Amino acid sequence: MAQRNTWQRDRVREALADAPGFVSAQSLHATLRDENTGIGLATVYRALAGLAAQGEADSLQSPEGEALYRACSTSGHHHHLICRSCGLTVEIEATDVEQWARATAERNGFTQAEHIVDIFGLCAACTAAASERDAD
Ligand SMILES: [Zn+2]
Ligand SMILES: [Zn+2]
Ligand SMILES: [Zn+2]
Repeated sequence: MAQRNTWQRDRVREALADAPGFVSAQSLHATLRDENTGIGLATVYRALAGLAAQGEADSLQSPEGEALYRACSTSGHHHHLICRSCGLTVEIEATDVEQWARATAERNGFTQAEHIVDIFGLCAACTAAASERDAD
């Protein structure tokens, strides 16, 4: 049975790699449906969760509480800048955040502290497009 699902997970992994930024399971499923792969939404959810658990994909929650996934080019700990309009994603290091998080945890007696910091906003192109629209 495990064998049978391998191609589906591979296909989900490929679709994720083709996506320009973070995508939801629903939008990835829509892409796969357009390609007539016959992969169901539940399978997409499972595949994405599996890829995230194995560190092959990054996962995060959008401000709306939706789970989003991305095949990241960086495997180590890192942060993201995400455009909430077009989904463009930039991988960033945040040295200040690392120091602040460690110091804050230590000050409160915490060990093995982890953190998730992602910045949602409008990218330069979307900001320009938005200000053009406002000018009309
Ligand atoms: Zn990433
Ligand atoms: Zn954008
Ligand atoms: Zn960090």
